[in-house]
Amino acid sequence: MGQSVLVVAEVRNGKPRQVSLEALHIARRARLPDDRISVLLVGHRLEEAAELLLPYVDGAVYRIDHPRLEVYNPETYASAIGSLLRDLQPRLVALGHTAFGRDLAPVLAAKLEAGQISDVVALEGEGAELAYVRPLYAGKLFETRRFSSAGAQVVTVRPSNLPPAEPLPAPGKLETVAYVPPDDLRTVVKDVIRQAAGKVDLTEARIIVSGGRGVRNAEGFKPLQELAAVLGAAVGASRAACDAGYCDYSLQIGQTGKVVTPELYIACGISGAIQHLAGMSRSRVIVAINKDPEAPIFKVADYGIVGDLFEIVPLLTEEFKKLLA
Ligand code: FAD
Repeated sequence: MGQSVLVVAEVRNGKPRQVSLEALHIARRARLPDDRISVLLVGHRLEEAAELLLPYVDGAVYRIDHPRLEVYNPETYASAIGSLLRDLQPRLVALGHTAFGRDLAPVLAAKLEAGQISDVVALEGEGAELAYVRPLYAGKLFETRRFSSAGAQVVTVRPSNLPPAEPLPAPGKLETVAYVPPDDLRTVVKDVIRQAAGKVDLTEARIIVSGGRGVRNAEGFKPLQELAAVLGAAVGASRAACDAGYCDYSLQIGQTGKVVTPELYIACGISGAIQHLAGMSRSRVIVAINKDPEAPIFKVADYGIVGDLFEIVPLLTEEFKKLLA
């Protein structure tokens, strides 16, 4: 009898997030012949997400659904998941390397007395031989790690680096897990402010148009937003642009911001400091627009345009409008 390989999935607007399908790819590569792949959903109103995830498991989609779990709180989530983990004793638990996964994974690892490998960007081998590649020093180096055979394993995967899992031939079953919230919670989430509601999620965006100090002010982001709207892209920023108050910190990309891996990254008025590159250098194609031909961003760019972004970005927008009309 095999063990469980469990993905703790995330739900947004009622649907599973893309990164959870990428975590399921890890589950597929890590499984041993008798293992069963299962998914755990924690939150509220999870019916649609559970149905959508059923084809990806041959174990179960476990659902812990309660109004008190609508908003993520590590204390309630850990207490909700704890008893399932004790019963299931999964061999491996995989999560997205997102704000959610980064917070929850060490808690689960502690509960399972498991080893943890975080921020996985590539895999080598499979099954017991599976090795995990992860960046070090803001992406200057990559290391390959493997778990020893003893004990449980917890893994987090960086969004948009691994392919999503394909559906399995024999779908699993739905299981509802009862949850009674404890009375003695020490932390309560009072309010959640969603600043980027309705916009394309930066960490899952296929195209990002990003602005740096070169955009000069908040108004200077307008041409970038117009280009992004035509391309169906998300807007990102350097820390200098955020620090200067041109945009919100939720847009910051880099070592202390979000790490992104889009198919196309258009950097406008960004010099290419190492801390910025740490967040975007694994993008598939990088286009840099900068008026300084010596700007370091050109060293990582696939295409470089030397010139004024306020002339070039509107021209690109017009051309893309014609192309995509
Ligand atoms: P600048 O370096 O000032 O570059 C502006 C660029 O715009 C220049 O190259 C200029 O030639 C060009 N330009 C100006 N006008 C135009 C125009 N009209 N048209 C075209 N080009 C123009 N930074 C991050 O981005 N993300 C991070 O997460 C991050 N974390 C950090 C963590 C630490 C611990 C530290 C110390 C720093 C961190 N930084 C981070 C800051 C980083 O070192 C840089 O200061 C920052 O990335 C610079 O942003 P920038 O490229 O927008 O600005």
